[in-house]
Amino acid sequence: MHTLYIVATPIGNLEDITFRAIRTLKEVPLILAEDTRHSRLLLDHYGIKTPMEAYHDFNKEKVTPKYVDYLKTSGDIALISDAGTPGIADPAFNLVRECVREGITVCPVPGACAMINALIASGLPTDRFRFENFSPKKSAQRLRVLEDLKTNADSTVIFYASPHNLLKFLEEIKTVFGDITIVLARELTKKFEEHLRGTPEQLLEHYKERTPKGEFVLMFHPQGKGGMIL
Ligand code: SAM
Repeated sequence: MHTLYIVATPIGNLEDITFRAIRTLKEVPLILAEDTRHSRLLLDHYGIKTPMEAYHDFNKEKVTPKYVDYLKTSGDIALISDAGTPGIADPAFNLVRECVREGITVCPVPGACAMINALIASGLPTDRFRFENFSPKKSAQRLRVLEDLKTNADSTVIFYASPHNLLKFLEEIKTVFGDITIVLARELTKKFEEHLRGTPEQLLEHYKERTPKGEFVLMFHPQGKGGMIL
């Protein structure tokens, strides 16, 4: 039996990778990557020549048994995603679950994760938080999620938000929560990193003059009205 390494890679800044991650990626005989062309840039940057195969949302069900078999008979595997920590809004779960079921060792190699880094810089309570993954694509679903949070959540709430529906999402948060304090972490670790804080109204005003661009983490505390928490 061999080991499945779940290896975190940078979320923007190529320096955000550990020595251990680089060593692991060099030493394993096989890397599984979400998008092999995308990950090639990272591997080339660090002189990693390990063969890569694709493991993504569209083939994960089909190929998982093949890689479980590989781990049983042939060698270790390192699993990476396009950015950050595999398994967090990225494929990894199917392979990890099957490995656990089969008694194969699963070893995390820690590193960057957008939601954790957004949270720790947010100024919102970090003692308890609720990760909601991507905000749903449809307005009705987003409103349902927000209504549920209003009733049930009493910790900091974290969403991965798309720039395409960010303004609508802010409007919806305003409808459900009123003048709650929102923190938006944008382009973390990259050149245009910024942390915006304000009510939905203030953030909508900010974006009147500009189009939301880049990658966003959106956070609030359900009891964070009128700057009470922040
Ligand atoms: N596995 C990744 C992690 O550990 O955070 C998340 C991957 S998920 C497919 C991509 C989403 O994560 C983006 O749409 C954005 O919401 C968030 N994200 C990733 N990188 C980011 C960054 N540098 N700044 C802000 N948000 C980021």
